[in-house]
Amino acid sequence: MQVEEDFEVKKLTSFKVGGKVKRVIFPESIAEFTEALQRYPDAFVCGNMTNTLVSTDGFDGALILTTKMTNFTIEGTTVTAECGLKGPKLSQAVAEKGLSGLEFMVAFPGSIGGEVFMNAGAHGQAIKDTFVKGQFYDRETGNVVTLTNAEMDFSYRTSICQKRNLVVLNATFELENKSSDEIKSLMQENLQFRHTHQPSLALPNCGSVFRNPENNSAGRLLEQSGAKEFRIGGAHVWENHANFIINDGTATSTDILELMLKMQNAVKENFGIFINLEVRYLGNKNKREEEICKILYQNLIKTQK
Ligand SMILES: Cc1cc2nc3c(=O)[nH]c(=O)nc-3n(C[C@H](O)[C@H](O)[C@H](O)COP(=O)(O)OP(=O)(O)OC[C@H]3O[C@@H](n4cnc5c(N)ncnc54)[C@H](O)[C@@H]3O)c2cc1C
Repeated sequence: MQVEEDFEVKKLTSFKVGGKVKRVIFPESIAEFTEALQRYPDAFVCGNMTNTLVSTDGFDGALILTTKMTNFTIEGTTVTAECGLKGPKLSQAVAEKGLSGLEFMVAFPGSIGGEVFMNAGAHGQAIKDTFVKGQFYDRETGNVVTLTNAEMDFSYRTSICQKRNLVVLNATFELENKSSDEIKSLMQENLQFRHTHQPSLALPNCGSVFRNPENNSAGRLLEQSGAKEFRIGGAHVWENHANFIINDGTATSTDILELMLKMQNAVKENFGIFINLEVRYLGNKNKREEEICKILYQNLIKTQK
């Protein structure tokens, strides 16, 4: 199994921020992954790092990256994918077979594990709609367990993995037969929407920064609070949509956290609404980051160890 010491993760993150990580492990199979989880019980697990802000001061612990676990099978309408597979790849593969239900995945760069953890979704579809079952490593007991959709506690951008210490090993989806043309045209529509409404990865970002409050839009609340004008150090709010932060190439994790706090405070002051962060934080916090994270993450049910 590939293990790297003092590894620069910055280039692997969509935010292009982050210092050195003491140890990064790259398992290539479920067996290697569970072995790594046993060997490094406190390791942080990431997929494609498109929803994670890594400290500029790095991380003094172990990080397991699943990006080399990319196997998948398609049997009839049933698809099983390992946690490290990228959503767009799976979306395209099932489209070729005339299988519908994962068209949303083409539009953003998460891994299957990260997407199950988050119950990721877009364009009227979400993981919960087609997820049938998955295999998980239970970090409390050290056992591999299978959970069905009914046991996943899926709701908006959350799953049971955020409440219990469960690591996604693989996921099985039940899809629907449709014509490949129809599926691909929906995928094209989704991509087209992205081009106009969301920043591309050429502008380093991590997708939506805040979750939408119930029956409301974080982007709209932020825009009406003047957030499009906000900039701190090398980080600024995207001029086309106020729920995105762009790193101009020089941002530190502190710049980004300060900007997040400014955005959260602006919505609280203008609307009396506390918006919750969607993005996860990993690494060594300096004193100021410690203070900011306490405020930003105060409502998070459980942070992964
Ligand atoms: C340009 C852009 C657009 C985006 N658009 C959307 C969108 O429309 N909808 C949407 O939902 N999201 C969107 N995102 C956010 C992101 O892609 C999703 O949240 C995705 O699910 C994160 O996957 P990841 O592998 O990158 O997760 P990571 O950033 O690697 O990890 C995120 C969290 O998931 C946990 N995790 C990762 N893998 C596992 C695993 N195997 N088991 C347990 N926990 C795990 C991590 O510990 C961490 O807490 C967007 C991001 C970008 C950059």
